[in-house]
Amino acid sequence: MATNRRRIPPAAAAAATAAFAVSAAVLVLGLGGRSFVQSYTDLAQLTAAAVASACCALAALRTDGRARRSWVAVAVGCAGWAVGEGIWSWFELVRGVDTPFPSAADLGFLLFPVGAAAALLLHPARGSEHAQGRRILDALVATSAIALVSWETALGAVLAAGADDRFALTVALAYPLSDLLLLLLVVLILSGASGSRTQLGLLAAGVASLSVSDSGFAYLTSVGSYDGGAIDLGWVAGFLLIALAPFGRDVTAAVPRLAPGRTDRWIFLPYVPVGLAGIVTLARLLAGNAPSSLQLGLIGVVVLLVLVRQYLTLHENATLTGELAVRESQLRHQAFHDALTGLANRSLFQDRLGHALDLHGRDLRPVAVLFLDLDDFKLTNDTLGHGAGDELLVRVSERLLAAVRTGDTVARLGGDEFAVLLEDGGDPVTVAAAIETALRAPFTLKTSTVKMGASIGVVAVEATDAPTTPDELLARADTAMYAAKRSGKGQLRVFAKGMSLSELSDQRMGVSLAASVAADELKLAYQPIVSLDHGRPEGVEALARWHHMGRDVPPAEFIAVAERTGVIGELTTWVLGEACRQVAGWSRGSTRLLQVSVNVSPAQITDPAFVGVVLDQVKRHGLRRGQLVLEITESSLLTEVTVAREVVSALRAGGVRIALDDFGVGYSSLSQLHAIELDILKIDRSFIDQIDEDSRQVRLLRSLLRLGADLGLQVVAEGVERPAQLDLLRELGCQLVQGDLLATPLDASEIPAAIDRQLVPASR
Ligand code: C2E
Ligand code: MG
Ligand code: MG
Repeated sequence: MATNRRRIPPAAAAAATAAFAVSAAVLVLGLGGRSFVQSYTDLAQLTAAAVASACCALAALRTDGRARRSWVAVAVGCAGWAVGEGIWSWFELVRGVDTPFPSAADLGFLLFPVGAAAALLLHPARGSEHAQGRRILDALVATSAIALVSWETALGAVLAAGADDRFALTVALAYPLSDLLLLLLVVLILSGASGSRTQLGLLAAGVASLSVSDSGFAYLTSVGSYDGGAIDLGWVAGFLLIALAPFGRDVTAAVPRLAPGRTDRWIFLPYVPVGLAGIVTLARLLAGNAPSSLQLGLIGVVVLLVLVRQYLTLHENATLTGELAVRESQLRHQAFHDALTGLANRSLFQDRLGHALDLHGRDLRPVAVLFLDLDDFKLTNDTLGHGAGDELLVRVSERLLAAVRTGDTVARLGGDEFAVLLEDGGDPVTVAAAIETALRAPFTLKTSTVKMGASIGVVAVEATDAPTTPDELLARADTAMYAAKRSGKGQLRVFAKGMSLSELSDQRMGVSLAASVAADELKLAYQPIVSLDHGRPEGVEALARWHHMGRDVPPAEFIAVAERTGVIGELTTWVLGEACRQVAGWSRGSTRLLQVSVNVSPAQITDPAFVGVVLDQVKRHGLRRGQLVLEITESSLLTEVTVAREVVSALRAGGVRIALDDFGVGYSSLSQLHAIELDILKIDRSFIDQIDEDSRQVRLLRSLLRLGADLGLQVVAEGVERPAQLDLLRELGCQLVQGDLLATPLDASEIPAAIDRQLVPASR
């Protein structure tokens, strides 16, 4: 974000440039004469250091955290230098004597490298931590090279010149050594930095300029040829650069990591000291100075380190290239696949479908599409949370993949919609049916078990069809899927011309259903619920039947329409009235309490007015307490559990018993079972399905039966179809069973005979 970057204000840059130009004229060209130069250099350095200290102190006031500490450190360092320079000037200019060595001035001067080092290390824009290995090597290369230069110059000269005492020698050595360390720090920090770091750059440049001048001074004084000039200018320039630093801005957050293919602008910095070391060593050699064995050793170390560093860089590049290739293929995969399930996404599916249609157009290669939408997926998501919803989608996609053949394309089009592209000429309806079967077993998620079916629309392109597009074909499959959805859950429909998406057909069917209810045209079938104790029906479940336009509409289909169109209230009232009337008739004169169960839709159990409707019918037909059972499903307890609880408790107070239907595949938790007062638990068919084949199901069923017993509920096992299942249920202590094995749903006229019939042998 270069626009964010504040440039140095022109006034500050101009002032610094002017000060530098004047200083250069005086110090390098000797303008104004020798004594003026003498005074100028001291006062200029003092002023520059004081100004730099003030600028950094102001910057410290405007920042906080790491940045503030960094500015304080550099301000203190500069102030120390200014004080040292003040003492120096007092000796040189006021008293006209040479400054003694060591003196209090050295204390001030040496405060600078401490402050500067702290400032560089504390600065928040300090480089990133990447490429650690290379950076450590850079540091070693730079240290050895700078040490070589310093050995040839300042450090070597100071040591050679010696000093009066140990303390003086220590102070004298402190200058070149601290310069060496500061230069090293500058190299390290700048080579680790990327992007725009104006503040840090100026600070580092200032420190470098000061260190070089300092070491130059130490060298020249040791060899006795110090004469101000460029060395003094380096000090002034250094403080001017530091004074400018707070005006810059470091754009750390906005600077991206180095893009591949771009060169880090500081990458060559460690080679600057190496080049310098080369020049100095060469100059010394040419001047006839044979290198000492220490120097030769240092040169060897530098060369070796440079070689290792080059190798590391090559290695790093190779790794980076490999990573880039992997990343690229990941990105390509991501562009065409669903992140959650790993299935093809819509664009890949459409692409493949387009290609398949092209081949069909060319040589009639077969093309068929299945469009799937999960039934009531939203409910899972809303009740179990998105984590469980995602988990379920992944499990569904695994089953889809397992149900199709290699080469078929399975895609997630979004949300709970999936599509399958078939190109092998197999029967798409068979594949769709296989998918329905594959989805039938409950899904075991981390925290719960859920049942999840899908509505599937099927469309196949026929040889006689006009050319079509992927979008058109998907739309047809979608239409067929909606038709499947309207006919109940877990259905599949093949697209047929004239099939329409419109809600109209729902409405039309709802109107017909309402008319049929009003005209008493619906019927009830009654399925016995048999006691294993005495082997005869304990009660019957009333199941609505609708014969409409020449066909028996499946209950799942018309109940769903009734729920969507609001006819469900009238339908339930009718079923209740009819069931109560008939069961009252069958019970007349009998001492047995024949129970009748009526299914209730979720919307009704959360409607307080429903209590009146039910109790009205109970009263009207003179049913005894406990004779009417209302079957509710788990989903009805979810949305408004408080209202449901009140409705249920009012119904129970009126003598109506409550059964939880299809238990185990819904969403109830044990806490909900406690929250709602129940009488009966009807264990869903899917838990009985395999008990004679799967021992795990037996264990599960045993625990469900135990749960029911612990809660003091009667338990009914639904969907018993085989004698083996019945035997096992009996063995497990289940008391009530329902299913085609004992009796299919019967016509009302057959019930009087059925209720006294021994449907299974009695246990006792
Ligand atoms: P449900 O309440 O679980 O009813 C049991 C369903 O399982 C019935 O299907 C019954 O015929 C079927 N069934 C019974 N024994 C067996 C068996 O051994 N094997 C198999 N495969 N199925 C068996 P039906 O009559 O098609 O009813 C389906 C669903 O429609 C019912 O499930 C219930 O939820 C709903 N339903 C039926 N009548 C009404 C009604 O009057 N009101 C409301 N709200 N829903 C109703
Ligand atoms: Mg039921
Ligand atoms: Mg049921």
